[in-house]
Amino acid sequence: MTAPASFAAGRRAFALGALLAMLAAAPATANPLGFVTPDQWQPHAQVGILERVTLNVHWHDSAKLLREAAAKHNVDNVDLHGFSILRRTATGEWVCDVFVVRMRGALVDNDRTMTFGHEMLHCFGLRHEE
Ligand SMILES: [Zn+2]
Repeated sequence: MTAPASFAAGRRAFALGALLAMLAAAPATANPLGFVTPDQWQPHAQVGILERVTLNVHWHDSAKLLREAAAKHNVDNVDLHGFSILRRTATGEWVCDVFVVRMRGALVDNDRTMTFGHEMLHCFGLRHEE
């Protein structure tokens, strides 16, 4: 059996697998006039934008437990809000595992909602520099 292709991404703490490490660059660049260009979503070069992904959500009760999960997956857990791991199975299916803190009692459109949406975009093959 061959190892599935995979990569991990986290909000604010970005996990760089061997694949992404080659693609990593500065998060923002200054143009000659000194304006900083904000980071933008881009399709991952080896994945493209997916239309069908099996999603597994791993809800954690606290940021501490989320960080412990990140450590088990070798994801940098400094200032971590959530992370996701997208992989392709031996049969060619895409599977994404999202790791976030449970949104119990959370306000609509707050930080946890944004983190969840952010990780979902990674699940469909989008990436960013940082
Ligand atoms: Zn991200």
